[in-house]
Amino acid sequence: MTQAPKKLFIKTYGCQMNVYDSERMAEALGASGYVTTEVQDEADMVLLNTCHIREKAAEKVYSDLGRLRPLKEAKPDLKIGVAGCVAQAEGEEILNRMPLVDLVVGPQSYHRLPEMEARVGQGGRAVDTEFPEDDKFAALKSRPKAKRGPTAFLTVQEGCDKFCAFCVVPYTRGAEVSRPAERIVAEARGLVEAGVREVTLLGQNVNAWHGAEGGLAALVGQLAQIDGLERIRYTTSHPNDMDEALIAAHGHEAKLMPYLHLPVQSGSDRILKAMNRKHTAEEYIRLIERIRAARPDILMTSDFIVGFPGETDADFEATMDLVREVRYGSAFSFKYSPRPGTPAAERKVQVAPEVMDDRLQRLQGLLTQQQRAAQDAMVGRETTVLLEKPGRLPGQMVGKSEHLFAVHVDAPEALRGEIVKVRITEAGPNSLGGTLLA
Ligand code: SF4
Repeated sequence: MTQAPKKLFIKTYGCQMNVYDSERMAEALGASGYVTTEVQDEADMVLLNTCHIREKAAEKVYSDLGRLRPLKEAKPDLKIGVAGCVAQAEGEEILNRMPLVDLVVGPQSYHRLPEMEARVGQGGRAVDTEFPEDDKFAALKSRPKAKRGPTAFLTVQEGCDKFCAFCVVPYTRGAEVSRPAERIVAEARGLVEAGVREVTLLGQNVNAWHGAEGGLAALVGQLAQIDGLERIRYTTSHPNDMDEALIAAHGHEAKLMPYLHLPVQSGSDRILKAMNRKHTAEEYIRLIERIRAARPDILMTSDFIVGFPGETDADFEATMDLVREVRYGSAFSFKYSPRPGTPAAERKVQVAPEVMDDRLQRLQGLLTQQQRAAQDAMVGRETTVLLEKPGRLPGQMVGKSEHLFAVHVDAPEALRGEIVKVRITEAGPNSLGGTLLA
């Protein structure tokens, strides 16, 4: 008699890198007999793959763990694990505060999950938040060949050496590490065999990838040679790592999509210096001019922090000026909040909450206007759309355009996974509408 598979429920917080890591953790635990479930209550193991970027991240994880108590009481054999950046930051403390937690695993150690799970199966508890010497990706088994959707994330780089004053990533993910090109190419080939047409290369500092000579541009060039892989994107980039070859690749590599997330955070040189971003607003603007010279229709997006400690009205106006000059297709903007252990958290000159609210509202108003303008500018244009799933209406499919806009198209479901030519006919607040072209 074959044993029924054990069920694994993973809750993923935060960024795309965590989405990728959750997939790899599920695959690693597949070796221990687990299959994933979408239903938490039927799980034999619950893993919270956490993020430390937002305010009070650890407290939110502790309260989510508290909510798992009734399930653990009803199913005493249920295994509960905490993974990701909160696991890295809190480590053993999670076991001390939460007796219901069985294992804590940091983002660089999750290839060891099967051994940790086995230890828990024998009645123990397990913590691993090392930055081990062994390469976790090399230790993980090849990815299963089961049929997948048409888009996939592919982590190529992890960690960060930049130490922006507000950010915990260098402490939770460690120093920059690049995966070797041949392993990335092999993984991409496997994804294509499984049905993937578009990959997004991921890294905390993806354009600092140095797994082979020529940097990220060379990697993009190698990936572009894979038959069946039609689109390549990458995120998140630091302005100082946009080298000439990568800028040029946007001009000549047809598979590299015309979309670039290039966070600037502030338009004030004083604040950029205090943030330790190591470039000025002018340098960033000139960089975008060079990128646009290579690929005139590229859509730029960014992240902004308003109310960084010491930000004056003049500093904030410099951010507004920069946004007006660059003209973004979309952007994320947040009020500053201190992350324990970061240099900015020590700064005394905090901006009043009501001032931050007002600035955020003004910035978001401007960014929304620019986003609408970018969407409106698409109307009447031809683009390609990778159809991913059925839309809300019968007979409709939805997919992403080259510029990463969601586009609804009247199309049969048989076209799922296909890249189709579309003329954009309308722009709504969150998506575009278009008609199929022959
Ligand atoms: S470059 Fe990005 S990940 Fe690295 S410290 Fe700065 S904000 Fe954090």
